[in-house]
Amino acid sequence: MIIQTTPHCSMPEMEQILQEINKLGYKPARVETQYGSYIVCVGTAEFDIRLLGNLSGVRDIHMVRDQSKLVSRQWKVKSSEISLGPDMVISRNDLTLAMGPCSIENEEQVEDMVAFLKSQGVRLMRGGVFKPRSSPYSFRGLGLEGLKMFYNKCNEAGIFVVTEVMQVSQVAEMYDYVDVFQVGTRNAQNFNLLDELGKVDKPVLLKRGMSSTLDELLASAEYIFSNGNEKIILCERGVRTFERAYRNTLDLNAIPYLKEKSHLPVFSDPSHGIGLRAFVETMSLASLMAGADGLIMEIHRQPERAMSDGQQSLNFDEARRCIRKIRETVKFRKELALLEDL
Ligand code: PEP
Ligand code: MN
Repeated sequence: MIIQTTPHCSMPEMEQILQEINKLGYKPARVETQYGSYIVCVGTAEFDIRLLGNLSGVRDIHMVRDQSKLVSRQWKVKSSEISLGPDMVISRNDLTLAMGPCSIENEEQVEDMVAFLKSQGVRLMRGGVFKPRSSPYSFRGLGLEGLKMFYNKCNEAGIFVVTEVMQVSQVAEMYDYVDVFQVGTRNAQNFNLLDELGKVDKPVLLKRGMSSTLDELLASAEYIFSNGNEKIILCERGVRTFERAYRNTLDLNAIPYLKEKSHLPVFSDPSHGIGLRAFVETMSLASLMAGADGLIMEIHRQPERAMSDGQQSLNFDEARRCIRKIRETVKFRKELALLEDL
């Protein structure tokens, strides 16, 4: 159960509400976000909802049976939108593209990429400066100084930045140089990091753990929301299966499922999802037809020379062609949706 309280709910009113919740055998947890005040109540007892609904200070009550409550569509039917700026909104009515290299490598690369993205009308650039690498001997990113350079170049050009944060202490350091914090697959259940990201007012792109169930992904999103941050994007990026032919198995099923279960926007990452450059375009289009609200993709001017993930990065010609097909697919998807309304 989720109780939304009124913005001016007084202390005595709140105490009375909490007391009634306890009496009913429910365990209450108070949540304050940038948008609202909620009391999340966990319990199973049946009762007459008017017992709570008539209390002053209560704005609305929703029975939410799902385990993850605040991210569930059971209380919020309208899909959430996340604004990055006055003319940049991540929403289910539009497609958001985030493109860029796996790792930020140097200043020339950023300038070149920014110019390319601008020429393609892509407003969000991805790029890691703190890289989780399977081997400690691999390139681990340019760090905070690299981030400042990356952010400043993008900011001057009106491009937004999405980049991975790996640990709690980085959240504050990175804050001024990030438009969207990315949580990588390896940190999808780093609950301390999720708690910390719940305390900031910047969007979080939360990737699915490589062996997480969708309930676990939603529970991770619930950590962020219940700490106060409603600006969350869920991202399918492929899971580990017995299949070794490709790097991961992009679970397309996850996209419609998450969109039904949750009100949050759902992205797909076809680059990590399949890990093979030749098939990234196909999987990006398949993700769109599965309903993805956004795509995060790796591109590089010279993939064969990339410092990480070149094997799954599109070169600029491939990216150009892919973007064209993405835009056509989005149009087609809209036409199909119109047919449904007939
Ligand atoms: C990345 O985006 O480069 C990355 C490391 O992604 P993931 O966490 O999905 O592996
Ligand atoms: Mn990568």
